[in-house]
Amino acid sequence: MHSHNYRLPQPFKDQVVVLIGNSSSADDISRDIAGFAKEVHVASWSNPADTYIKQTGHTNLWMHSMIERVLENGSVVFQNGKTILAHVIMHCTGYKYDFSFLDTNGSVSVDDNRVGPLNQT
Ligand SMILES: Cc1cc2nc3c(=O)[nH]c(=O)nc-3n(C[C@H](O)[C@H](O)[C@H](O)COP(=O)(O)OP(=O)(O)OC[C@H]3O[C@@H](n4cnc5c(N)ncnc54)[C@H](O)[C@@H]3O)c2cc1C
Repeated sequence: MHSHNYRLPQPFKDQVVVLIGNSSSADDISRDIAGFAKEVHVASWSNPADTYIKQTGHTNLWMHSMIERVLENGSVVFQNGKTILAHVIMHCTGYKYDFSFLDTNGSVSVDDNRVGPLNQT
């Protein structure tokens, strides 16, 4: 699933959840879910390959390096060599922005998800 569809942590009770991403959504949702899930594992490509760190203040929340592969039985193999049998993989990988509704009228431009200039002196 994608973080866009996340609403409440209760449905993840006693589950093993793997989140992909390391920004606002993964940060918020991982802590939210950790109160209910059995285990929460966050995979981030910005972490070194050997990363395996338990988050301070949590007994069931780990930071990992990126995922290397996912097996057909739902096992997630991380670059750090750990293998987790996951109930859910949640992509917290951001959004594709679409500004097609915006009639720029030549006054602003949209470039790489950035609209500007939005204020002028
Ligand atoms: C120009 C701009 C200005 C904004 N200003 C504000 C603001 O002032 N206030 C506000 O509340 N919101 C603002 N937003 C919106 C805010 O940035 C987003 O709502 C928020 O970043 C979404 O968080 P996210 O974690 O879902 O995605 P992101 O922040 O996009 O994070 C996605 C994460 O997934 C990782 N990732 C992506 N693809 C992969 C992959 N294939 N494998 C592994 N990891 C991957 C990325 O490295 C990153 O860690 C702004 C957005 C933009 C574009």
